[in-house]
Amino acid sequence: MLYDAPFRSSIVRVPVPSGRAYRIDSPPGNALVTRELADELRKVLERFAMDVGFSESNPVGIFFKPGVVGHHKFGRAADIYAVAGVGLDRWKERWDAAIGHASRVPNAEEKQGITNMEGKNNLGWRLYKALQVYGRLAQPYGYPIQIFGPWTRSEGPWKYISDRLLHAHRDHIHVAK
Ligand SMILES: [Zn+2]
Repeated sequence: MLYDAPFRSSIVRVPVPSGRAYRIDSPPGNALVTRELADELRKVLERFAMDVGFSESNPVGIFFKPGVVGHHKFGRAADIYAVAGVGLDRWKERWDAAIGHASRVPNAEEKQGITNMEGKNNLGWRLYKALQVYGRLAQPYGYPIQIFGPWTRSEGPWKYISDRLLHAHRDHIHVAK
């Protein structure tokens, strides 16, 4: 949402397609993007969905909402607000609660167990990590890689994210290509 792309007058924008193990729950108009970004998201979302155990007969839902500024104006960005019918803000609250609980457990093994369990079951966090690790996203010269979300400060890639920008992404994951 931050940085404007160079203006191009005839950009073809397409909806992010549903895949085999994931399904787009939001109206197609909520994420109209370049073919390049649609392809990238399709690949990463499919891999994420398979990794976390969804399938063609039981696909996971992904929900986008439209963005308006920066890369969004050119279809080069998309904002994901929910996965498996649960908002990213809820997934982050759940994450914080689990990590907070782990920090208060004195037994190291039990502490690690809680953290591992949340890292396995928290689909918001897993989606963020999948986009971060598998996604080939934009990095405008002199700017950080274009993925921002509720976990950016702890997980990166841009841990120096400002309070303002982190707050703006408390309830969604922004990606651009
Ligand atoms: Zn955005």
